[in-house]
Amino acid sequence: MKIRLLGTGAIYSKCNCASELIDDKILVDVGNGVLKELKKGQYDFVKLEMIIITHLHADHYADLPALLLNLEVEKKLKPIYMVGPKDLKNKLIELCHIYYQDFLDEFIKERFKFIEILPETKSVDVLNNYPILVQKVDHCQIESYGYIINHKLGITGDTCLCEEVCHIFENSEVVIADISMIEGTVYHMGINDIETIRKKYKNKVIATHLRDDTREELRKRHIEDILVEEDGAEIVIS
Ligand SMILES: [Zn+2]
Ligand SMILES: [Zn+2]
Repeated sequence: MKIRLLGTGAIYSKCNCASELIDDKILVDVGNGVLKELKKGQYDFVKLEMIIITHLHADHYADLPALLLNLEVEKKLKPIYMVGPKDLKNKLIELCHIYYQDFLDEFIKERFKFIEILPETKSVDVLNNYPILVQKVDHCQIESYGYIINHKLGITGDTCLCEEVCHIFENSEVVIADISMIEGTVYHMGINDIETIRKKYKNKVIATHLRDDTREELRKRHIEDILVEEDGAEIVIS
């Protein structure tokens, strides 16, 4: 499995907002900077099969209108699955209206298959060889999801330390984890939370959604098996 980190930062940081491209076909979160980062890597947009959104905070989906406008010019596109919280389709259309009036309405209707997560949704199984388990997490009283892709790659999304995060660690091998803060809060995990989890679960962790001071602190601490990468880094997991 190939993971390209399109963004590793928080909204207040020098880096792009947290986003990952998995095996060139699954894009997780589309905050600001993501389209530019895909362009820098000369990404072939025809390969895109699914976009997964963790939650509807701007730093996780505000670059979608720009991405969609770019996709609109790629004539060979396959239909793309768009997975995320309830109301994703309406919110996306509203956002596109703010950016570009109704220009993208038809494109959204024709090219995207929306899968909005319901309380009973446990998994999304539409892409061959990529079963996606859904795990509701605890973040700012907004509907927010973590995911486990192919029983291997966990993605916490924005979350505080909660039971569901432990579930993601337990059921995956490598975890892309929100470590926004030095000390965790009720909204975001911190370095202390990841140290707590890793007393029990030994997964390799890819740190993301990092504030600049958190990135610096994580680098100083050199914690074994916690990767602190820059935007654009590529990681292959077997
Ligand atoms: Zn958030
Ligand atoms: Zn965020």
